[in-house]
Amino acid sequence: MDTIFTKIINKELNSNIIFEDDHILAFEDVNPCAPIHFLIIPKKKIRSINEISENDSNLIGKMFIVARDIAKKKKIAKDGYRLVINCNENGGQTVYHLHMHMIAGKKLNWPPG
Ligand code: 5GP
Repeated sequence: MDTIFTKIINKELNSNIIFEDDHILAFEDVNPCAPIHFLIIPKKKIRSINEISENDSNLIGKMFIVARDIAKKKKIAKDGYRLVINCNENGGQTVYHLHMHMIAGKKLNWPPG
């Protein structure tokens, strides 16, 4: 099923894109919870972590490589950052297209509630 992220991938909806290749898109979160907050998503429609298949291993690995590279580019690698993937209702997922939050730019609280 399509989500708002399909529209962002297809450029039917504007977003501030940070990185794009054939398989991955990274763009700023519209409602940031920290000075740096963006999302890294596969272009392939995967509903949540629960729907990841063995064949997606490279794609999921690439999401982390993209996170690492952007962290370096934005000079947040040393200070640190948090990568979050929410899954389904109890996990707080609101958009059912797999996405990794990259949150940084301040000292983050732990644990989350
Ligand atoms: P979730 O709660 O599913 O883990 O995260 C969904 C994220 O998508 C939220 O942080 C929300 O602010 C972001 N988001 C929802 N709609 C849009 C949109 O249209 N554009 C952008 N850039 N981010 C969105």
